[in-house]
Amino acid sequence: MPDLSRPQGPKIIAVANQKGGVGKTTTTINLAAALAEQGQKVLVIDLDPQGNASTGLGIGLDNREFTTYELLLEDIDLGEVIQKTETENLFIVPATVDLSSADLELLSNEKRSFLLHDALRQTQMDTFGFSYILIDCPPSLNLLTVNAMIGSDSVLVPLQSEFFALEGLSQLMLTIREVRQTGNKDLRIEGVVLTMYDRRNNLSQQVEQDARDNLGDLVFKTMIPRNVRVSEAPSFAMPVLGYDSQSKGAQAYRDLAKELMTNNQIATKEVQNVE
Ligand code: ADP
Ligand code: MG
Repeated sequence: MPDLSRPQGPKIIAVANQKGGVGKTTTTINLAAALAEQGQKVLVIDLDPQGNASTGLGIGLDNREFTTYELLLEDIDLGEVIQKTETENLFIVPATVDLSSADLELLSNEKRSFLLHDALRQTQMDTFGFSYILIDCPPSLNLLTVNAMIGSDSVLVPLQSEFFALEGLSQLMLTIREVRQTGNKDLRIEGVVLTMYDRRNNLSQQVEQDARDNLGDLVFKTMIPRNVRVSEAPSFAMPVLGYDSQSKGAQAYRDLAKELMTNNQIATKEVQNVE
């Protein structure tokens, strides 16, 4: 019997696509900031050894003593690894390059695919009061990404509005299906979001058309435009919402947050067959 006296936990979303440079980190940071702006308490988990989400949210290298690595491999409690960011309601578990060896170290661990799942379900989780946890995945379908998928309620897939955007998507969907069969039968697809969209560019329009034809309403209505303010914000260690609140990029991430919050009320979309 489930313990109904416990408050409902946070919604956990893995931001994943095995391609690099498609906007995973940018989407994690800015969607998290937009949800936080809506009054939601949000935790970002940096699961990429590159640590870009940590840098982008202002956690310098000298401030990363406790990271995702310790959370997964050294039995350090969640409460010890969570840090505040400059953005109200927005917290992070940072990452360093240490995490790059985790993939190998995990191999010898019996619970290798469930470490993040277990870490996020410590009883103390309830006391933090998070509404959302967003996990910034590495650009690979490795054990770290599998940990994210097993530990999550859903997967959000950023798709760059570029040539070959849909290439590799069937492999990602296959991984999601395998995770459903082996460790997390309830894993859903939150949606696919087109990033770096340029409405004057025929190629962007073509990618959008292909995505909507193939993936139907898995594709978010909101598209994130290519916007220089979005790419500048990380070097100022803030989300674009803080860096230039009225920029097109900030507005788009606000729209995405609102769409995602409505998504939440209807059932999150089923995994479809994408071949
Ligand atoms: P990933 O995490 O998938 O590797 P990033 O989020 O790091 O991808 O984005 C790759 C690059 O594209 C970064 O330099 C980022 O600043 C830039 N970028 C991402 N989204 C946008 C956007 N909407 N407009 C302009 N540049 C963007
Ligand atoms: Mg990244």
